[in-house]
Amino acid sequence: MDFELTTEQEILRKSVRDFSEKVIKPVAHELDEKEEFSYETMRAMGELGLFGMCVSEDYGGQGMDYISYCIAVEEVARVDGSHAATVAAGNSLGIGPLYYYGNEEQKRKYLPKLCTGEGLFGFGLTEPNAGSDAGNTQTSANLDGNEWVINGSKIFITNASTDITLGSTNLARTGVRPDGKKELSCIIVENGTPGFEARPMHGKLMWRASNTSELYFDNCRVPEENLMGKRGEGFHQMLGTLDRGRLAIGAMGLGGAQGAHEAALRYSKERIQFGKPIGTFQVNAFKLADMDMMVEAARLLLYKAAWLCDNKKPFGKLAAMAKLYCSEVMHDVANHAVQLHGGYGLMKEYDVERFYRDQKLLEIGEGTSEVQRLVIARLIGAI
Ligand SMILES: Cc1cc2nc3c(=O)[nH]c(=O)nc-3n(C[C@H](O)[C@H](O)[C@H](O)COP(=O)(O)OP(=O)(O)OC[C@H]3O[C@@H](n4cnc5c(N)ncnc54)[C@H](O)[C@@H]3O)c2cc1C
Repeated sequence: MDFELTTEQEILRKSVRDFSEKVIKPVAHELDEKEEFSYETMRAMGELGLFGMCVSEDYGGQGMDYISYCIAVEEVARVDGSHAATVAAGNSLGIGPLYYYGNEEQKRKYLPKLCTGEGLFGFGLTEPNAGSDAGNTQTSANLDGNEWVINGSKIFITNASTDITLGSTNLARTGVRPDGKKELSCIIVENGTPGFEARPMHGKLMWRASNTSELYFDNCRVPEENLMGKRGEGFHQMLGTLDRGRLAIGAMGLGGAQGAHEAALRYSKERIQFGKPIGTFQVNAFKLADMDMMVEAARLLLYKAAWLCDNKKPFGKLAAMAKLYCSEVMHDVANHAVQLHGGYGLMKEYDVERFYRDQKLLEIGEGTSEVQRLVIARLIGAI
């Protein structure tokens, strides 16, 4: 076994860490407060090469492996969850379906702009009545001549209503299969299409500087060739996208836990009570030791899942485990980090307050923790 990262991966980690410290950290608190998506940091992240990370250079991507992608997301998340969300959703959910399931024309049309970060794409799976039960899609798309006529709505869609969003890949019912079940297909809808509206959602607890949207389709007409891949393969495409996406959510949990742990360790050395740094009280030192151990274990699980993906081995079970475990580690570590900060940890001027809020989405988005346990239980044959 070889636990060494490659020289390229080490260089990538250093450059993303430096960037995140210099460019994102100074604005993270203010953007969170204002609930503002930053086009400036978005442009800078694009210039650094944080989009199209696993896309081949033929389409303008960075041609990296999934371990590298996880390292990059981890390093952004170590500083800020909202920016990590933009990167993770941009790569996994926006670019992923087009790259893995789009035809040559669709790839050539959208990927180059998405890979430079000049454009973003949404992933429209969740609906008001189809969340964990994602196959219960109500949105319909009916062929009328050579156009799909789409009706329905989507909710909580990341990156779907920014000024630079090009469009979204949406799951819709396109008919009934011979076995009587719904036929589900993925259809691309460009922003600005008549009958389509992408509305930003406000008032989030977490990821406040990332873009989240509701999508509305009202007799929205798109060309027949906007179908992604084959008709009837939409649900399979969405699940494949989520398998890879879980690696990035795991990386967000890992990076956030790392950031919260570092902040807590620093504070524990500075804060004096009873004449001593609070970190020297055994209960706190043990807490810090446990946090470090949890972060290390999370990293091993995530990198193994990414390694399996890179080596074309089955990785679905470990991706679900990494997503679940890293989210729960961040939950615990952020909670300990706030506790170690005492009353100051509840104040917005301390980063741990934001980490504490941001972690919660990781246990809900891209399949809740309960759904991950269902996935794992099915894969080990328990149910
Ligand atoms: C900020 C944000 C960004 C998001 N980005 C996207 C995106 O880009 N694209 C997209 O398509 N979606 C996105 N989502 C949606 C997200 O994936 C869903 O919120 C999530 O899948 C859960 O669906 P739900 O909210 O409808 O909860 P529900 O499915 O209603 O679940 C409610 C509770 O019931 C539990 N539950 C449900 N079914 C079961 C079961 N069978 N067994 C045990 N427990 C169960 C759940 O675990 C949960 O605790 C985003 C959500 C948020 C908040």
